[in-house]
Amino acid sequence: MENKELSCSFCGKKKDDTNLLIAGLDAHICDRCIEQANGIIHEETSHNVAEVNREDVSLRKPKQIKAFLDDYVIGQDYTKRVLSVAVYNHYKRLLQPKSDVEIQKSNVLMVGETGTGKTLMAKTIAKMLNVPLAIVDATVLTEAGYVGEDVESILTRLLQAADYDQSKAEKGIVFIDEIDKIARKSDNPSITRDVSGEGVQQALLKLLEGTVVNVPPKGGRKHPDQKFIEINTEHILFVAGGAFDGIQKHISKRLNMQSVGYSAAKKGDHYGGNTLLSYIVPSDLKSFGLIPEIIGRLPVITHMESLDAQALRAILTKPKNAIIKQYKALFDLDEISFSISDGALDFIVNKAVEYKLGARGLRSLCEAVLTDAMFELPGSEEKELRISKSYAVEKLNKSKLQALKAVS
Ligand code: ADP
Repeated sequence: MENKELSCSFCGKKKDDTNLLIAGLDAHICDRCIEQANGIIHEETSHNVAEVNREDVSLRKPKQIKAFLDDYVIGQDYTKRVLSVAVYNHYKRLLQPKSDVEIQKSNVLMVGETGTGKTLMAKTIAKMLNVPLAIVDATVLTEAGYVGEDVESILTRLLQAADYDQSKAEKGIVFIDEIDKIARKSDNPSITRDVSGEGVQQALLKLLEGTVVNVPPKGGRKHPDQKFIEINTEHILFVAGGAFDGIQKHISKRLNMQSVGYSAAKKGDHYGGNTLLSYIVPSDLKSFGLIPEIIGRLPVITHMESLDAQALRAILTKPKNAIIKQYKALFDLDEISFSISDGALDFIVNKAVEYKLGARGLRSLCEAVLTDAMFELPGSEEKELRISKSYAVEKLNKSKLQALKAVS
């Protein structure tokens, strides 16, 4: 009799109308209410997870971002500072609560010869932020409908880098290499179609601005039946890079023109070689053949210094994953202690300079010097490898790279 009086303190149901009624200190709860409460808990906590993910893009201060870059990239101080600020602002914008002041995107353009660390810079930033990164080559992009890859394929790559997690992809970084190769061929807009140049720039523009694109997750037109995933590019950070070969001509022309009738051309003030790039402004990019709209969407412009022997030497040994450190780790796995003399390192650097191979050549040169040892030593009695200059000279003389000497 007494039991009949019992009811759920939450929904009021009588005990008989429930499957189960659990007693607490001063109250009761029925199975239905437990289920409902469980649902609410689930919803709330998954919401919290989403919030945490938002914070996942760990926001470091510009100085910390630069310090992280310093661990991996040698030199390029100016670009590091510019990039640190751009990335910081970009992600601040991303985490910004809704407000009237809409912070605009700060996509970046890096100008500098190949092999100076542009890709490395983008890779390092992505690593630091723990966001997906897609590296694409602008030269393979064409306007939709032409042979080559649609501009949307960039987002397919990003989606793949994000393990098909749409929200991760939408916070990722896209590095577009060789953007200079899609420059308009002449300064005058042409009436004939420019499939690989201006058309691609127009197509890219939409992505840079921020738009919603239906992306085929497996890419290409080979799978016409595949479901599309919607990607909003509003929060994707685009970093473009290019050598812009010959842009120095445009810069110097502009500088010389400006100096007419003005004291800018102070005596002894000459703009030569590498430093010319540091004077780059958006109008030079326009003269080079980028359309003004694209330039407008890449508001942060920076230049890369070319790497001298001293920088190349540092690249071999200093970064966290420096080439020499990698070889040491490889030999360590075979319990072989590896070392290389300063003379040998200088020799490798000088060869990279002589063969005009830059930083990209350092790895091939090291391979040429070390391949024999990496073949012979594992499994042998030798537990020590000391590379002297004469050893390096001997191995390099034997290698195919030596042929470069004749070419250069
Ligand atoms: P880019 O994109 O400018 O053509 P990369 O970033 O691809 O050049 O550089 C090629 C390789 O050279 C990188 O993998 C890296 O090992 C090395 N490298 C180039 N520049 C630097 C640098 N400033 N610091 C450290 N390593 C560098």
